[in-house]
Amino acid sequence: MVERADVVVIGGGPGGSTVATLLARRGHRVVLLEKETFPRYQIGESLLPSTVHGIGRMLGVTEELEKASFMVKRGGSFRWGTNPVPWNFLFAVAPELSGPTSYAYQVERMKFDEILLRNAARHGVDVRENSPVADVLGDDERVRGVRYTDPDGVEREIHASFVVDASGNRSRVHQHVRGERIYSEFFRNIALFGYFTGGRRLPAPDSGNILCAAFDEGWLWYIPLSDTLTSVGAVISREHAARLQGDQEEALLGFVDRCAIVKDFLADATRVTEGTYGQIRTRKDYSYTNSTFHRPGMVLVGDAACFIDPVFSTGVHLATYAGLLAARSINSVLAGDVTEERAFDEFEGRYRREYRVFYEFLSAFYDMQGSEESYFWRARKVTNVAATNLEAFVSLVGGVHSGEAALTSADALIGEFRESSGALADAVERTGSMQTPSGERMHHLFGTPVVREVMQEMNNIQVRGVQGEQARELPLLDGGLVPAPDGLSWMEPTAVLEEAR
Ligand SMILES: Cc1cc2nc3c(=O)[nH]c(=O)nc-3n(C[C@H](O)[C@H](O)[C@H](O)COP(=O)(O)OP(=O)(O)OC[C@H]3O[C@@H](n4cnc5c(N)ncnc54)[C@H](O)[C@@H]3O)c2cc1C
Repeated sequence: MVERADVVVIGGGPGGSTVATLLARRGHRVVLLEKETFPRYQIGESLLPSTVHGIGRMLGVTEELEKASFMVKRGGSFRWGTNPVPWNFLFAVAPELSGPTSYAYQVERMKFDEILLRNAARHGVDVRENSPVADVLGDDERVRGVRYTDPDGVEREIHASFVVDASGNRSRVHQHVRGERIYSEFFRNIALFGYFTGGRRLPAPDSGNILCAAFDEGWLWYIPLSDTLTSVGAVISREHAARLQGDQEEALLGFVDRCAIVKDFLADATRVTEGTYGQIRTRKDYSYTNSTFHRPGMVLVGDAACFIDPVFSTGVHLATYAGLLAARSINSVLAGDVTEERAFDEFEGRYRREYRVFYEFLSAFYDMQGSEESYFWRARKVTNVAATNLEAFVSLVGGVHSGEAALTSADALIGEFRESSGALADAVERTGSMQTPSGERMHHLFGTPVVREVMQEMNNIQVRGVQGEQARELPLLDGGLVPAPDGLSWMEPTAVLEEAR
């Protein structure tokens, strides 16, 4: 007999665990199929506050995350742009994020992802590990289920009203949505990373910050995972791929050598050579987005849908945010509140908006790094990207932040991105170095339009996490829906619009 569920979720990373938990909280029968047995290794260790305090609260894991003693991250420190000393981007001084929830964590993903997955099971999700999905079942009309291999090697089918693909970057399941994966010319990088013990820390209170430092061939991340363990990675141009074929340790240490601040921090450190963290790994970190995120019966969440350069630690935020949006849409359709088309238009509109504001922010951020002489940075200047390619990618993503049709021509786009980059560089200049007393000058950064856009939805999620049913949200999209009081589904905005009048 074929098994039946309301929803099958493929993949137990942060995106999959989030959507599954929020569906189960509305009483649906959810089966989550995960290829690996947890804990399993994953990169993407630096989180944002909206994941911890917004989504985390909706999932009911805030206390457990607190107990796990992850490194507290007040923000990011950057040796980037014209200022030779690092400067800070602190969450605490963002007007929206200030107060007791103005921090995030640096996490060992083996631990973090397992907390989220076990929490999903506690909420009633039927979690099956060591159960890779081999095929998605359906017909021209809609997707109707999956075929997977159980831990005994037996092939099984589950039929469901919805299939959520949250199977990450390297899986091919997303192809069943019948879209195309389109890559941005701007961010086609490769990452090479490993782990060290005994690395130095930034001075308190910034010792838990991520440090991102630019050098001629790219940039390095330096993430303190505990008092002793540090994750270090080099993000370089794909043209260097050949250099990574040889001795990878030599290559990584070579890049560290070229970046004064990280070299200094690692002067007395030792590379971890055993266990999970003993390996040096490489990953393509090309930015991409699928041409569509859903079709009837199926939806893409997290890296399965899109990915953007990791310099601002956005991956887990985008994956968990998409998990929340997908859960709201599926809950609404299963309850008969909203049509499938309207629910998923809201899902895709919000998700693309979030991707797009980060894309513009990151393009501006890369553009403000000087060194025109270096191949890596020259190739990542907004003015040096083929205008038509930028235009094609951005129109796929959904226009620039102002949303005006007139701005979608290639030249107008370049102008818009350059303006954002100039405003950002100017704000960084005025913010001063990280030694500037307190974060009081950070308002320069938070005042730039591109940063305000990036903060808007993250702030809404955090407010929702903290205020629960008291939170009131206006539509984010023209003619769009708003979250229901419990945050788990959509509703028409009539009442909130009347209240706001
Ligand atoms: C170099 C680099 C650095 C990064 N740094 C950061 C960072 O600092 N902060 C940040 O937030 N993000 C970062 N990211 C991004 C982050 O890694 C991802 O965005 C995030 O892990 C996406 O979560 P997910 O749930 O979509 O997918 P994943 O975490 O990849 O989870 C997908 C799950 O699906 C399972 N799966 C795959 N195929 C199947 C199948 N056929 N059947 C069943 N299960 C399957 C996998 O085993 C996996 O457990 C970085 C990425 C890169 C490449």
